[in-house]
Amino acid sequence: MSVEIRLVPCLSDNYAVLLHDGDVTAVIDAPEAPAIEKTLGKEGWKLTHILITHHHADHVDGIPALKKKYGAKVIGPRADGEIPLVDEKVGEGDTVKVGSMSARVLDTPGHTAGHISYVFDKEKLLFAADTLFVLGCGPRVRKARFSALAVAIKTAPTARRHETLLRPRIHARQCPVRNHGRSA
Ligand SMILES: [Zn+2]
Repeated sequence: MSVEIRLVPCLSDNYAVLLHDGDVTAVIDAPEAPAIEKTLGKEGWKLTHILITHHHADHVDGIPALKKKYGAKVIGPRADGEIPLVDEKVGEGDTVKVGSMSARVLDTPGHTAGHISYVFDKEKLLFAADTLFVLGCGPRVRKARFSALAVAIKTAPTARRHETLLRPRIHARQCPVRNHGRSA
């Protein structure tokens, strides 16, 4: 069965992505629970995995309600800030299993110190979250981190070979910082 993908608008300017294959459904980042639950209900899917890229509120605030409702496994970065209810911490070189799907983990620091990206090679999908924005690198990159961000550009070759789901945040200039309410 080929993977099905749903883009779920969340909050005022944000997205989560659902991946469904057979009996498993994963969400990449969890900005809020209601919008994700609504799409899951519409599709008749049960959430089994929550893959988190970094600790900002607009990526993690939905975790507690989703975990409570579905009992989904939470996977997140090993070296980033506080992420609620993480079951498995991962970093560069690790592999994340989602049913028959498999994702490589890349360390892509810059936006935050411990930001990670997920690469599903077989499905040709890269989830780079806030490592790459459509019109820039986001409002929260600090000067000291530009060198780290340059390292994150290692995702670029992968991005060329994969469908890159950037959470199409085209608001590099107008992104309200309030949605990144926690420290970077
Ligand atoms: Zn962020």
